[in-house]
Amino acid sequence: MKKIKVLFVITLLNSYSIFWSQVNKTTYHSPLSIPLKLSASFGDLRPNHFHMGVDFSTGGKVGLSLFSIEQGYVSRIKITPLGYGRVIYVDHPNGVTSVYAHCSGFEKSIQKIILAYQEKNQLNEVDITFTSGEIPVTKGQLIAYSGNSGNSSGPHLHFELRDTKSEKALHPLVHGFDISDIHAPIPSKIYLYPIDQNGYYLNQKKISIAVVKSGENYSIKTGKIVLTSDFMEGTDRVLIGVEGTDKIGVDLSVCGLFENELIAGENSIFHSRIDTVSFDHNKLINDYCDYAEYKRNKKKIHKLIHKSSNHLDIYKSAPLQTIRLKGNDSIPVVIKLTDAKQNTSTLNFEMVFRKELGTIDSNSKPSALFLLPDSSYYFEEAGNAIRFKPHALFEPVLKTLLITKDKIQLGTAITPIYYGASVSMRPIESTPIDKQYIYLLGEKEQKEALKTQVIDGKLEAEITSLGTFKVSADLTAPTILPHNFSASDTSIAKSAIQWKVDDLKTSISNYNLFIDGKWKVIEYDKKNKLISCVFEPLENGLMNFQLILKDVCGNEAVWTKNIRVN
Ligand SMILES: [Zn+2]
Repeated sequence: MKKIKVLFVITLLNSYSIFWSQVNKTTYHSPLSIPLKLSASFGDLRPNHFHMGVDFSTGGKVGLSLFSIEQGYVSRIKITPLGYGRVIYVDHPNGVTSVYAHCSGFEKSIQKIILAYQEKNQLNEVDITFTSGEIPVTKGQLIAYSGNSGNSSGPHLHFELRDTKSEKALHPLVHGFDISDIHAPIPSKIYLYPIDQNGYYLNQKKISIAVVKSGENYSIKTGKIVLTSDFMEGTDRVLIGVEGTDKIGVDLSVCGLFENELIAGENSIFHSRIDTVSFDHNKLINDYCDYAEYKRNKKKIHKLIHKSSNHLDIYKSAPLQTIRLKGNDSIPVVIKLTDAKQNTSTLNFEMVFRKELGTIDSNSKPSALFLLPDSSYYFEEAGNAIRFKPHALFEPVLKTLLITKDKIQLGTAITPIYYGASVSMRPIESTPIDKQYIYLLGEKEQKEALKTQVIDGKLEAEITSLGTFKVSADLTAPTILPHNFSASDTSIAKSAIQWKVDDLKTSISNYNLFIDGKWKVIEYDKKNKLISCVFEPLENGLMNFQLILKDVCGNEAVWTKNIRVN
């Protein structure tokens, strides 16, 4: 009897959520009180991740009211110095979670709950989850204020929709948010890469060709691409990459490409649509785009191939279908670019291979000169080691490995790694090991400190790209300087006190303020290197401030002073 009851409830819930998702399309409340204007769309290619939401302009202002788009309850609040900064999540009965990031603050009663939690636990950075009864909200209820907190390069609202259960990010413009758009995507360039039967790009040769407008459609100037055996270098398969933009809305905000299809001859061989992305798969973007071109030239090239190892939900076609050149044939190629509002542009050209220019091989394989993505590797020399788990590499990598007693060098920082690669390095002698860290030498010789652990007397770090790895020591404490007052001030008449903070070699990992010995909440704005303490309206008088900062190597800085707050 009990079982039947449960089943009945589940059926009701299911039909309710199906009903809801059908009717909700245009019934969400706007998160802002000003007309919605996009400044970036969902799926835009970013370093190491897709843009998982849409950016709504707040007209360059902070402090605009943010409203819950539907009834539900606040399910999570997080405060971090980078990333989303101050962010609030609301779960709705239709199985969707809405996310409002880079906030300047939360609604008064919510702010009170967070502050109490911070004070009780003496934590400036929090990640709190709530159950359904704790903070219920109605549709259109004020929940937070827009801002520029975290890793945001100007005031705006970063807004997301997620499937509550799977936590996958959903494209707001195809899941209930309607922004009028009559302009089709505009391709600007195509790129050709010879690849092998696994979709691997071995010879590092590349051709780029500008796209030209041709009547209603697009083409290339010559209308035809002639490929030579010299370019193809032993393979008969070619990968096409496409670069372009899409102008959305009445303001023609420049956004990225959304849906790409590749048709060769009669057959549709590739189809992608960036409508849903799982956070777990986000880093696969480094394989979806041309990572090297992104790193070096900020180019956003969408590669029209679905590799078997790439599990992104954006692929809508079977893996490893590629254009194959048989020799002396001319293949008509069509690239169809479609936006979220079904505006489509087509790019047409012919692809020709001249057989007399050499032979091609349909079974070309990477030689023994390469490290392969599906294998695991471990190399050790002079106490330093590098390790790869299977599929840590996206592409075969030339074995140009050099390990000496003070460095590990393999390729350059423009070759991305998925997960499961690490380096283990010998510490520098006569320096405390807990003050040491591994760093990556970037393409422009810049040093990027890696998150380093001490394991069995060795330094270890996960790596996210190839490059040159070395060990350094951080023996210097962070710096603390007055920001909105001067060092000689004995009183301030302000609503907040701010310090400019920095750490020369690594980064600040711990920050605490004590006023008259009592812990007080502060905010660390990492991008601006600012720490702020906001006073309560009645908080005034002579106060003893003690700000204590620690970097990741445990070096501590203490700033202390008596100041009268007026
Ligand atoms: Zn954003």
